Amino acid sequence: MGTLVLVATPIGNLGDLSPRAAESLQGAALICCEDTRRTGKLLSHFGIRGVRMAIANEHTELARIDEVLELLAAGKIVAVVTDAGTPGISDPGERLVKAAIEHHHVISAIPGPAADVMALVISGLPSARYVFEGFLPRSGPERGERLRAVATETRTIVLYEAPHRVARTLTELHAICGDTRRVVLARELTKLHEEVWRGTLGESLGHVGQRAPLGEYVIVLAGAPASAPASDDEIVLRLVAELAHGASKKSAVAAVADRLDVAKNRVYDIALAMK
Ligand code: SAM
Repeated sequence: MGTLVLVATPIGNLGDLSPRAAESLQGAALICCEDTRRTGKLLSHFGIRGVRMAIANEHTELARIDEVLELLAAGKIVAVVTDAGTPGISDPGERLVKAAIEHHHVISAIPGPAADVMALVISGLPSARYVFEGFLPRSGPERGERLRAVATETRTIVLYEAPHRVARTLTELHAICGDTRRVVLARELTKLHEEVWRGTLGESLGHVGQRAPLGEYVIVLAGAPASAPASDDEIVLRLVAELAHGASKKSAVAAVADRLDVAKNRVYDIALAMK
């Protein structure tokens, strides 16, 4: 019976390719990959020879479907790998799986490295229930909508981000989720310079700075507090109390934002509108 196998490959450390993954790649009639040079290097490192590769990246995955279905119909094994990690996780794979299911073929996977799961389990944030957001839309109204959804999500949120956009995304998360929301930055996982930084969104801005940080990052964000968010009336009452105790407007805003776990911008706008 033809089988489509999604094979997880290392996200940095070649020692993470499992023996079963190597066996499966060696036994495939075709390996769909994003980049034949990159996958070719992986294959030759593991002594896997004589298996044909074909490109199925985000632009060509659809065009590759007919060929894959033909091989599956002929009872062959077709493997799917990506440049790193688990296929289908912010990577090609999903459309091949869908087509193979529609044609009643067997689908299987060789599980292994996935940056999202590794970052989550080492983050120290609640992992019983979590949300994988992948990459946020880069711009436009969709980005704002997704950021707002992230801000109110109560489960732990896992985000992918390109190195040169990490600072901007943290700045925007800070503006919408507040200064005190906990965040974990998992960098260069499984590689020589693996680093896990834990702190608040406010602190993360200083940590990352405004320049593009080196290496690949997963952002793991604590969920929003489960209680109902503070209302404007509650913010006004707290501000009045702080000011009555002699606090300056600036420190009253900071104290209220911190205590109610709301964005400083919001409290500041409310303070400005107060008479
Ligand atoms: N399919 C992959 C997986 O299973 O993790 C993810 C591919 S996605 C195109 C690439 C993103 O994954 C990067 O921008 C980064 O956010 C994350 N990533 C991949 N490898 C990583 C690593 N070694 N350390 C930290 N993040 C990594």
